[in-house]
Amino acid sequence: MSLVDDLVALNPPLLVALDVDGTLAPIVRDPDKATIPKDILELLEALASASSVQLALITGRDLESLSRMEQLDGIWRGVEHGAVVLGPGEQPRERKLAEEHVLALARFKEWVRDHAGDAFVEYKPQAVAVHVRGIAETDPARANRLLDEAEALAARLGLHVRKGRCVREAEALAHDKGEALRQIFERSGARSVFFAGDDLTDLPAIEFANKHGIGAFVLSPEKPEPPTPSMIVIQSARSVAQLLAELSRRLA
Ligand SMILES: [Mg+2]
Repeated sequence: MSLVDDLVALNPPLLVALDVDGTLAPIVRDPDKATIPKDILELLEALASASSVQLALITGRDLESLSRMEQLDGIWRGVEHGAVVLGPGEQPRERKLAEEHVLALARFKEWVRDHAGDAFVEYKPQAVAVHVRGIAETDPARANRLLDEAEALAARLGLHVRKGRCVREAEALAHDKGEALRQIFERSGARSVFFAGDDLTDLPAIEFANKHGIGAFVLSPEKPEPPTPSMIVIQSARSVAQLLAELSRRLA
C-alpha cells in the first residue's frame, strides 16, 4: 500500500498537519523570500474545505510572516513552534513577557547587531532566530561559529535554545510543535492525524502523529537521510505536493 492509501484508511476526520518551510515552500537563502507555490496553495484550499479533513499548518514562523505566505480560510495554525495555536478564524491573544525575558532578548539582539550583522535574523514576538544558510554557502566555518556563539549566549542568558538546520533560535519560553499538534488534534475533533516536516524541530510532531496516525520526515538535499532509519520518509517537498494532490483527489 502507498502512503496515500494508508492515510485514506485512517479514521475520519483526518487532521492533515504540515510544516511549511522545506515541506510546502522550497528552502531559499532568505526566509522572507520563501513562498508556497500556487498549485500547492490550491491543494491546501481544497483539503481545507473537505468535510472529512481538518487542515493545519505548524511552523516556526510567527503569524505575520506566515500571513505573507498564505491567507487560507478554515485552517488551524500553530506558529512560533507552537507558542501560539489558532483555530479557524481565531485571532491571537495579547501576550506579555516577564521583565527578565524582555531583558535577555534585548541582550541577545545586541549580540546579533554587533556580531551577526550578515546573518538573516527573524525577530519574533518572543524569540530571535539567527539563520546562517547564506553565510554557510561562502564561509561554512564562520556559519558554524555563529551558530555555536548564538547557542552559548542564549543559554547563558537563560533563554531556550532551538536548533534547526542552519539556524539557532533564542526563545523566551520553550514550546514544541508536538504540543501544538496535540492541542489542535484535541480541539479539532479529528480522530486521526498525519503530520509531515523536514527538520529536527518537527520530530516531536512526527512522534505525536505516529501515536494517532502517521508522521513522516521530508528528505531534502540538505538532509538526505532521516534522523532514525525506521522513520516513514517522503523523498522531497515535490513529493509532498504529489501526495497532497492525490489526497485531495481522494478526500476532497
Ligand atoms: Mg521545515
